[in-house]
Amino acid sequence: MSRADVIVVGGGVMGASTAWWLARRGVAVTLLERFAQGHRNGSSHGTERIFRATNADPFWCRHAVEALPLWRELEEDSGDALLLTTGHIDFDTAEQLQLRADAAATAGVDTQWMSPEELTERWPSMASERPVLFHAEGGRTNAQATIDAMSRRAFELGADVRYETPARGIRQTAHGVEVDTDDGAISAGTVVLATAGWTPYLLDGAVPGLPSVESSTGQVAFFQPHDPASTYPTFVSPEVYGMSTPDGRVRVGHFQHSMPVHPDRRSFETDPHTRAEIEGWVAVHVPGVDPHHLDELSCLFGETIDDDYVIDRYGDIVVGCGFGGTGFKFAPLVGRMLADLACGQSGPGGRFASGRP
Ligand SMILES: Cc1cc2nc3c(=O)[nH]c(=O)nc-3n(C[C@H](O)[C@H](O)[C@H](O)COP(=O)(O)OP(=O)(O)OC[C@H]3O[C@@H](n4cnc5c(N)ncnc54)[C@H](O)[C@@H]3O)c2cc1C
Repeated sequence: MSRADVIVVGGGVMGASTAWWLARRGVAVTLLERFAQGHRNGSSHGTERIFRATNADPFWCRHAVEALPLWRELEEDSGDALLLTTGHIDFDTAEQLQLRADAAATAGVDTQWMSPEELTERWPSMASERPVLFHAEGGRTNAQATIDAMSRRAFELGADVRYETPARGIRQTAHGVEVDTDDGAISAGTVVLATAGWTPYLLDGAVPGLPSVESSTGQVAFFQPHDPASTYPTFVSPEVYGMSTPDGRVRVGHFQHSMPVHPDRRSFETDPHTRAEIEGWVAVHVPGVDPHHLDELSCLFGETIDDDYVIDRYGDIVVGCGFGGTGFKFAPLVGRMLADLACGQSGPGGRFASGRP
């Protein structure tokens, strides 16, 4: 039986981040990912995610502020450019945007109002009928490059990184845990589960009190700019979110999710009604692109019922899941929290604890 100090199960962005932090601390870590590198069955694939510190809830603004220097630390450690500062725009009613501006201010984040004319002057490819909120430090992370950088650095620092290696079962033993794989069992002091909506199935009731985590699907469409040299901020409206892609397209996703699905039995079909809503929003607010979609995809979210994350320890099992449609921006911070818990340090508690109301 092989042995590690810590086994991390799940090679999405949260598991890769945890393995990176553990390997940097000299911990003997084994990272198990069920699918091949770059797979599209979870939540972390693709090349772009929004980074922003604006939110109506100051709790999330503060976490984004804390995550930002850790993104820069990851870039320095890996030598890869991963977070491109493009500026971020929030579209909403004046009342809702004021809530965001106030929440951001309590976290020390600067925002500025922009009139429709100022928006179009700065980005001729964007339009709004109402004032918008501008956040200069917002931008785009390269999702797959981030996972690749984290897992590569973890490997270079001594981690045993195994793709196409599902964890088949987890047992608590007198001295920690054992994780079954098709190549045999691995023993460790602690296991970290970063397995999103698969977590309840893998645990199979082994952790009583774990908040429920459900999977659902969402939809994203890609658009072709009329002018290949045009630039775009990242943006969020009550209905959709979007950003440019590293290969020069514009990606717009809808916030509407499907009913709960089993993560292994989900549909990859897209819905024409949702597509029409995305195209309708784009036709009004992103005049720089052809409003007929080029391509589209269905994606998977793993969420808790209250939308807060689970970052907690249960005996020798650490669980990090429920990051839904918002977690990527916090990945270097979440990985550090999970690594702290795996090393026996205290966790974030509060809204991330399993015993929350
Ligand atoms: C379409 C979409 C758009 C998003 N946009 C944004 C955004 O703009 N900004 C933002 O901040 N966030 C965004 N998010 C959220 C963010 O991408 C997710 O919160 C994040 O990727 C979740 O990462 P994860 O590692 O928890 O989950 P996953 O990426 O799903 O990783 C879980 C991994 O566990 C593996 N696994 C499961 N079971 C096993 C097993 N038994 N053995 C081994 N491995 C196993 C799976 O194969 C998977 O790779 C978006 C999410 C989606 C889906």
